[in-house]
Amino acid sequence: MYDQNHLLCRLSASGRSSKIFATRPDGPDVTYEGLFRGAEALAAALVGAGLMPGDRVAVQVKKSLEALQLYLGTIMAGGVFLPLNTAYTVSELAYFLSDATPRIIVCDPARMNEISAIAGSATLLTLAADGTGTLMQAKGAPGFLAVPRDADDLAAILYTSGTTGRSKGAMLSHANLASNSETLRDTWHFTPDDVLIHALPIFHTHGLFVATNVALLAGASVHFLPGFDADAIINAMPNATALMGVPTFYTRLLDHDGLTHETVSNMRLFISGSAPLLVDTHEKWEARTGHRILERYGMTETNMNTSNPYNGERRAGTVGFPLPGVDLRIMANGKEVPKGEIGVLEIRGPNVFQGYWRMPEKTAEELRPDGWFITGDQGFIDERGYVTIVGRAKDMVITGGFNVYPKEVEALIDAIPGVKESAVVGVPHPDFGEAVIAVIVPENKAVTKDDISTALRTDLAKFKQPKQYLFLPELPRNTMGKVQKKALRDRYAGLFTDAQ
Ligand code: AMP
Repeated sequence: MYDQNHLLCRLSASGRSSKIFATRPDGPDVTYEGLFRGAEALAAALVGAGLMPGDRVAVQVKKSLEALQLYLGTIMAGGVFLPLNTAYTVSELAYFLSDATPRIIVCDPARMNEISAIAGSATLLTLAADGTGTLMQAKGAPGFLAVPRDADDLAAILYTSGTTGRSKGAMLSHANLASNSETLRDTWHFTPDDVLIHALPIFHTHGLFVATNVALLAGASVHFLPGFDADAIINAMPNATALMGVPTFYTRLLDHDGLTHETVSNMRLFISGSAPLLVDTHEKWEARTGHRILERYGMTETNMNTSNPYNGERRAGTVGFPLPGVDLRIMANGKEVPKGEIGVLEIRGPNVFQGYWRMPEKTAEELRPDGWFITGDQGFIDERGYVTIVGRAKDMVITGGFNVYPKEVEALIDAIPGVKESAVVGVPHPDFGEAVIAVIVPENKAVTKDDISTALRTDLAKFKQPKQYLFLPELPRNTMGKVQKKALRDRYAGLFTDAQ
């Protein structure tokens, strides 16, 4: 019934099996058949509530197996799944709902009253973390026949984190999701024998598409945790084979005494993404566990783009090679740059999204007519073909007319004994336009401004050396562990200008 490239077509092979899909700390195991039957019952509920093909189902609920069934049920019903970060406030939700105009909204029962005030004409249903709510009461019988959709029809809209300006809804087709998940499954050697520790949120591309779809397409099992919990992950490892996490998962697990060679003896793969993994974390992880973390790079608009090799050298500080079928080029001043030179990464391939929802101008700015997507990430390709990301283009500092790539400065600062991590940003400066400043998170040991500035003096040109060092107990991060550079720029915006 489906086109070969349709996500559900790819999933249907595993959908009737009695194999365990999920084990979880707070509920019974769920088989593949149970997962898909539950999803069919929810698809029937959505159609019963008036969902038509192409309608959006906006979902802001806590992570649960039923929430995953709602994702599958939405696409079975021909709808477009639109997950929303559970941290969004009602005023933030008001923007997403007015922009996406969903036919159905599913929210936590605790937020029902607030959200009904901004729901417009959408039907509002509830789903709690324990799987109860009005959505469940509306369940139809399993056996729902999935609504036919083309591979190029939308399966999901995910709003980008919107670190500058308004969030944009990235439109992802069935073919976008199916092709990327299949590539990742093969690249990372996922099979039915795998048990993936799933501790990521499912409102983001990482936990929803990378972790969930790869496990489903492989016919693997997941150890389904409601969120990051170092104890629970350590306890799960002896019976698991793989972990997907953001870098903060790995730094926090390194703080846990239970992380030993023995604990990970059954694990075959640790994957990191969504934010840069510090070289230091990579090295400490290898020393503690004997495993080299496999770092990959992707984004909401493109799914995953590059990965360090499964077999072959996983190089700390790099994001590896373009995935099979994904084209990657580095551009500066309208031209592709030679190896080793920094520019903006552009991506083309079946993974690249269909554009921004109801924002044709934004789409035209970032997605070229010939299919290349301008990522806004800056990086370079080395002689061996490994890609390194140096930061977001908008985070590059231009001081006195010179470009400073924060990552170069951060890497040197992070290597100084006594420094846990750092973030380098540019703030307005009356003479230089922008000045480089460094925000430092010290380790327990005291480290001073002088230690750092002295260490940098020998390695960095003067214009790259920070003009101020600020110390904070931790860096501001979003839920995916990304450092919020804008928050730092805002906080220190008046450092040089206020004195004038
Ligand atoms: P999101 O759309 O929330 O997944 O964010 C995507 C952005 O996260 C990318 O454009 C990169 O700036 C960043 N990112 C993702 N993975 C990595 C990585 N391995 N190293 C550095 N930055 C990354």
